[in-house]
Amino acid sequence: MGNRVLVTGGAGYIGSHTAVELINGGYEVIIVDNLSNSDRSSLEGIRKITGIEPTFIEADCCDREAMRRVFENYEFDSVIHFAAYKAVGESVAEPAKYYRNNLDSFLTVLELMKEFGRNNILFSSSATVYGDADTLPVTELTPRKPATSPYGNTKQMAEDILRDMVAANEGLKGIALRYFNPIGAHPSALIGELPRGVPNNLVPYITQTAAGVRECLSIFGDDYDTPDGSCLRDYIDVVDLARAHVVAIERMVEGKSRERYEIFNIGTGRPVSVFELVRGFEEANNLKLNYRVAPRRAGDVTAVWADTTLANDELGWRAERELRDTLRAAWAWEQSVRQ
Ligand code: NAD
Ligand code: UDP
Repeated sequence: MGNRVLVTGGAGYIGSHTAVELINGGYEVIIVDNLSNSDRSSLEGIRKITGIEPTFIEADCCDREAMRRVFENYEFDSVIHFAAYKAVGESVAEPAKYYRNNLDSFLTVLELMKEFGRNNILFSSSATVYGDADTLPVTELTPRKPATSPYGNTKQMAEDILRDMVAANEGLKGIALRYFNPIGAHPSALIGELPRGVPNNLVPYITQTAAGVRECLSIFGDDYDTPDGSCLRDYIDVVDLARAHVVAIERMVEGKSRERYEIFNIGTGRPVSVFELVRGFEEANNLKLNYRVAPRRAGDVTAVWADTTLANDELGWRAERELRDTLRAAWAWEQSVRQ
């Protein structure tokens, strides 16, 4: 059962790419998703890419009885917990919805792991836990800043819950991966990000603008204290990010963890400005994007990027995909969605 992994939220953006990499790595994947922010087309995409249909259970991770049945019916030693809501703005407007879903789902999974003696848990954390960091790039030891949104708070709280659960339960091992800015899509264009409504994130907004779905991209601020005045982020290809999950699971399964609870930054280690990203998209895809400079967006930090030394040295993982290939894949995916 060491090669079986329960993937909550596995029909979603990062979960579906991770399912593909797990299957390609010889793992058997069991997906639980309530399809609140995804649909079955991603399962079909996984099947087309890998030739294998993952087991799928439509269930809410907050539903303890439904989840208990999953634990009763399937043998697995490892869980990757992606299931969560992720819209920062919505979390400010509806905090209870975010605390309820993101924390309840995680607690339910952790309690059932304890009850059923399942050992390895990988949690989707985020660079948002660093907030407006005093030193850059951020290492895993850079102090977290108070969260600026209920969403960010759920990530900090879930990290702390995981730390405490691991400390209290001998058998349990946990890893939190702090993702920087995941972008792009599988090169096959069979799976990718499916934002509902108006995208909040930069790359889906860019691709929808290029596709004519949005009229004009707003660049939020050109007066930041950065080389070109726009914000700096660390954009990580979703396939590279997915691979990080496979090596993190391997580390726990093979007993290679140095501590029972570990944290790793998953980024490229390279800061990229909004203007650079827009230019990169235009060049990679040989098109012109309609954009304008707009006021700063509330809550945005000036700059954040990862020190990835720990992931490089300990996980033996590094980001490999070139930004231009990632931006090509993002555009290919957008075009396939529009067909
Ligand atoms: P996503 O919305 O595409 O995937 C999340 C999946 O979880 C969706 O398929 C959704 O239907 C499902 N889900 C939500 N609540 C559920 C519940 N209670 N029970 C069962 N399924 C549920 O988002 P994503 O971008 O793939 O993000 C995956 C994880 O990574 C999330 O925890 C997110 O907070 C985290 N993360 C994402 C980013 C990013 O920019 N995409 C950055 C850092 C961290
Ligand atoms: N951004 C932008 N226009 C958009 C969306 C985002 O200029 O329509 C900028 C945003 O200000 C930030 C960067 O792009 O500097 C990445 O934003 P995103 O929402 O994708 O990720 P975040 O880093 O906020 O999690």
